Amino acid sequence: MSETQLVIVGAFTDEERARLEGAFPAVYVSGPDEIVALDEATRASVKAVAFKGHKPFGGGAMDALPGLGLIANYGVGYDAIDVAAASARDIRVTNTPDVLNDDVADLAVAMLIAQCRTMMKGEAHVRSGAWARDGEIPLNRKVSGSTAGIVGLGRIGREIANRLAAFKMEIHYHSRSEKDTPGWTYHDDVVSLAEAVDFLVVALVGGPETQGYVTREAIDALGPRGVVINISRGTTVDESALLDALEAGRIAGAGLDVFLNEPNIDPRFLVLDNVVLQPHQGSGSVETRRAMAELQLSNVQAFLDGQELLTPVN
Ligand code: NAP
Repeated sequence: MSETQLVIVGAFTDEERARLEGAFPAVYVSGPDEIVALDEATRASVKAVAFKGHKPFGGGAMDALPGLGLIANYGVGYDAIDVAAASARDIRVTNTPDVLNDDVADLAVAMLIAQCRTMMKGEAHVRSGAWARDGEIPLNRKVSGSTAGIVGLGRIGREIANRLAAFKMEIHYHSRSEKDTPGWTYHDDVVSLAEAVDFLVVALVGGPETQGYVTREAIDALGPRGVVINISRGTTVDESALLDALEAGRIAGAGLDVFLNEPNIDPRFLVLDNVVLQPHQGSGSVETRRAMAELQLSNVQAFLDGQELLTPVN
């Protein structure tokens, strides 16, 4: 058997794992912590890692693979990987941008509509028989024609803004710099953005630099008709401030695909009836996950063939 070239690390589906194992001589571990337990000959021969998941991948795991040259991440968000530690060791990192933009933007819009139109309550009303017994549900809230604010007008943020513009919304946004987006209004801070809009949609990168970026002040600035949508990472929003505002009715609601401490999310969320909760499934369609897996595999292939990486991070 040829020498192991790849360690497959993380929560891959059977299909994804089989494709990687079919393409490269590979071993599998469920998380970065287990790399060090691989036998020495295997660790010495490994050149690349295919990584999926949110468990931290730090310098210790990298040092256990002396010939490691690439960590190919499955996902656009690579905040679990210590990229500075990788760069310091001449290890390249790749991710899977763009192929997932549509799915994540679709889910953001879906959560917004579901929250405003009380679709989860409507569904329960039908299923429980309450419709036939008690009649119509209370009137809810119109979505089209509102004012939306995007926090982080990157690849996914733009797709969300384009969709909301098609819903006849006025588009405001905050990024670190103003973009060339005629007709959309730029705000140089999140509080000013929140003051101007009904809906605040967070599409930032995760990681230490954006920790708590949407502050308590910004959440409260949204006001009682404000709705927060977060498809980025649980870290980007001050989660306890969000929970306080939702519980007190200082904002109208939230649609959340991401949380701190996933999947063991704060139980305070579970009793709120003004939130739509999703299990971090933004990119989770069969088609998009397949495209992400293909892009990850192509990055590994390019690296092992000495070709240019398709979607490098560092
Ligand atoms: P992107 O194109 O890199 O855009 C990221 C945005 O974050 C940009 O607007 C950027 O601001 C901003 N940003 C980056 N570093 C920042 C910093 N230090 N301070 C303030 N703002 C900063 O990324 P993307 O492809 O749109 O993806 C965005 C994120 O979505 C990913 O990183 C991931 O965490 C999340 N995501 C979630 C799911 C899900 O399943 N829910 C799926 C895919 C992705 P500028 O505009 O100023 O550059």
